[in-house]
Amino acid sequence: MNPRKLRRHVAEMFASEPVWQIIVNRCDWLCPYCGELGVRGLSADSEVEVLLMEHLSNVCGQWRQGEGKLLPMVRLKKRRKSFEFHFKIQRLLRKDARFRLKDGERWVCPYCAGPTDVGVPEDRKNYGIESPFLNGVIAHLIPCKEFASGRGKPRSYKELRSRYSPDGSESQEGDEVERFGSKLTGAPLFRLLDVERGWLCPYCGRDSGIQFLPGGKVDARIIDAAWKHVRVCREEHKMPDIETLKGRLQEINRAKLMAQVRRKLEGHAVWQVLDLDNIWYCPYCARPTEVQFPVGLEPDSRLVLKVLRHVLACSTQARARIKDHKEIKAAAAAQNERIRVRNDLKPRIRNADSYSYFQAETGFWICPHCIRPIEEMGFHAGDELTRDVLDRLVDHLLSCENYLDDPNLIASVHELRTRFGPRSQDSGELAFPPDSADSVDDEDDNDLGDISSGELIFYSEDDEEASY
Ligand SMILES: [Zn+2]
Ligand SMILES: [Zn+2]
Ligand SMILES: [Zn+2]
Ligand SMILES: [Zn+2]
Ligand SMILES: [Zn+2]
Repeated sequence: MNPRKLRRHVAEMFASEPVWQIIVNRCDWLCPYCGELGVRGLSADSEVEVLLMEHLSNVCGQWRQGEGKLLPMVRLKKRRKSFEFHFKIQRLLRKDARFRLKDGERWVCPYCAGPTDVGVPEDRKNYGIESPFLNGVIAHLIPCKEFASGRGKPRSYKELRSRYSPDGSESQEGDEVERFGSKLTGAPLFRLLDVERGWLCPYCGRDSGIQFLPGGKVDARIIDAAWKHVRVCREEHKMPDIETLKGRLQEINRAKLMAQVRRKLEGHAVWQVLDLDNIWYCPYCARPTEVQFPVGLEPDSRLVLKVLRHVLACSTQARARIKDHKEIKAAAAAQNERIRVRNDLKPRIRNADSYSYFQAETGFWICPHCIRPIEEMGFHAGDELTRDVLDRLVDHLLSCENYLDDPNLIASVHELRTRFGPRSQDSGELAFPPDSADSVDDEDDNDLGDISSGELIFYSEDDEEASY
């Protein structure tokens, strides 16, 4: 057959004869004489008949210048199926991490999870469709019971990886998980943890619900859970910038700390100590705080925030520990004693004139109970009766034996004048300043300072037990 005639013949056959038209893997032509892939990688602009002629004239052993026999369609379809299977396994060997593990230099079958006698080639090109490696793999798979002619399922990467090492070539998921794992242990952006060690996903900027181990450590289980989250959410979200993420973390921290504090205030006796003024006692410093509870009301979020702000300052100090419940109650009881004296003092100051007696000569206040000038009080005629001065008066009365013996025994103004001479010109009515001194400062600042990182759980459950 001369070349021109041959070319026409081939074009005609390819256009009309089904056995000439079998394409495998979308671009490889199956030769109907030898049953091999006669032409690889056909594309829309290939000169098909030239390529076919080249195979038939130079490569094919069965064409025999047109004298050879065509294979029956049934055989050709089987060949196509077999090639497609090869391509599929080749793809898996290239892309699926479960197919890319080895035991020494031997390939590991992901179905039966055993090392095979197929050697893993160093060169990736040897994974090609005609390579001994691919053929070795297929020779294992066909009789492999767990492959079950394609009905079996490969084992999980995790299971396989626990026994075997990756084959060293770049793989898809296995290596990706590994890279992701090292980000979780090293890259700051992937280590945004809230105060309860909850992991903030940098892709969606949300609380992932995944908690890191103490010290911000991760284990395989955590990496796995985070990977499962990320694999989905990174497709759906554009990674926010670091400032946005930090802002999110602050919000999450605030909410989590508020919830922690609220739970403590509602459920733990050491967190519930109030004095008679309804001032709250901090379990860390066992002292009265700037927080005053509303009488008979549940703490609202503003109050919880105030408690949180105090506790944050107190509990983050070195070796901060919850104090003993008794100690906190004792502090409140001591304060209650003062409050009782102070409350008793207020009407006295209003009603008994002798409470406003200052010696003219020295300007010192004269206690109408022990009947002596109280120098150490540093309180002089003309001073306003502030909360601070009132506190010092209370201090004196709590140490004044006469008062403690019988608070109702009070010297008269006449008696005081007889003993100490005339009253100071400046001393008139002692008056309380407007009630503001009694109330607690109101700040409406929501800022909690930088609580954007690290772990801060107020105290461990063991401590909690101990504090009862
Ligand atoms: Zn051929
Ligand atoms: Zn197997
Ligand atoms: Zn996410
Ligand atoms: Zn405190
Ligand atoms: Zn006294």
